[in-house]
Amino acid sequence: MTVRNVIILGSGPAGLTAAVYTARADLLPLVIEGLGAGGQLMLTTEVENYPGFPEGIIGPELMERFRAQAERFGAEYLTIDADRVDFSSRPFRIWAGGQEYQAEAVIVSTGASALMLGLESEQRLLGHGVSTCATCDGFFFRDQEIAVIGGGDSAMEEAIFLTKFATKVTVIHRRDELRASKIMQDRAFANPKIEFRWNTVVDDVIGNGKVEALALRDIETGSTCDLEVGGMFVAIGHTPNTALFHGQLDLDPNGYVVTYDGTMRTSVDGVFACGDVQDHVYRQAITAAGTGCMAAIEAERWLEAQAHGKHHG
Ligand code: NAP
Repeated sequence: MTVRNVIILGSGPAGLTAAVYTARADLLPLVIEGLGAGGQLMLTTEVENYPGFPEGIIGPELMERFRAQAERFGAEYLTIDADRVDFSSRPFRIWAGGQEYQAEAVIVSTGASALMLGLESEQRLLGHGVSTCATCDGFFFRDQEIAVIGGGDSAMEEAIFLTKFATKVTVIHRRDELRASKIMQDRAFANPKIEFRWNTVVDDVIGNGKVEALALRDIETGSTCDLEVGGMFVAIGHTPNTALFHGQLDLDPNGYVVTYDGTMRTSVDGVFACGDVQDHVYRQAITAAGTGCMAAIEAERWLEAQAHGKHHG
């Protein structure tokens, strides 16, 4: 069996940047890009904060450009999900689509997924008024009324951030008490542009081509009403895509891959991680790309050290 130099798992900004760098280092990376190829940016429309695109760019087009750039230098792609890995010995082993693949080094960039409410209308209007990222999309809601769903720190952070643009932000929470830390609660309560709807759930997102209103239900009284908003930000948490790595890599209590000492190194020598799979703080395309570059450079140096019979610390 051919042992590849590098296999990259995942194809968002982190994985594809790692692919560009490892491809340009002549390592002929294989990117197992997954069925959700392109990652979370495939679920967005306009991206206005990625440097180098002053007019903005559509999320899927940006990812297509990342992909083409790595391909130009020799990256290969496999558009299936990896379904099992074995990092217990080298070469590392990865199974995907019934085939086994082997590599000297692995870069894990499987990302995270925003949790969603699970409504059909929410999926249909994703990128058209439904968003999971205030930093990315808040700007598009200038002078509009918007809703934030959730009662944790993310929801408070997003609601506070969105008051910069929106005329009013309504936080919709399914209980009558927030999960967020006291300091974030206090900030949100003190903000005159934020209103709360307690014990309330969203039954439907109403709108044709764009969000126009939310169908709300009070779970205590059963009463329903429509709330007119131009946008709905879902902030009910993220889940890292790390099911494959349980028992293989050190994960933190929330399931994110742990990277050590300010590097992209994981608990397994020769396995590196980058992007949202190891970052629950910044979660930006540009930070994911930055860590993808770091992981590639570290993998390249690590492979070189192996070739010279040295052992990495
Ligand atoms: P989280 O703490 O898990 O909160 C998720 C919120 O969404 C909860 O209020 C939960 O309601 C609600 N929720 C979950 N599923 C729902 C559903 N299906 N429908 C309606 N509501 C639903 O997640 P997070 O806010 O993303 O925070 C994740 C971690 O990052 C936390 O440890 C947090 O402290 C940290 N964080 C910190 C900061 C900061 O300090 N600045 C900022 C962001 C995140 P219930 O309360 O009823 O469960």
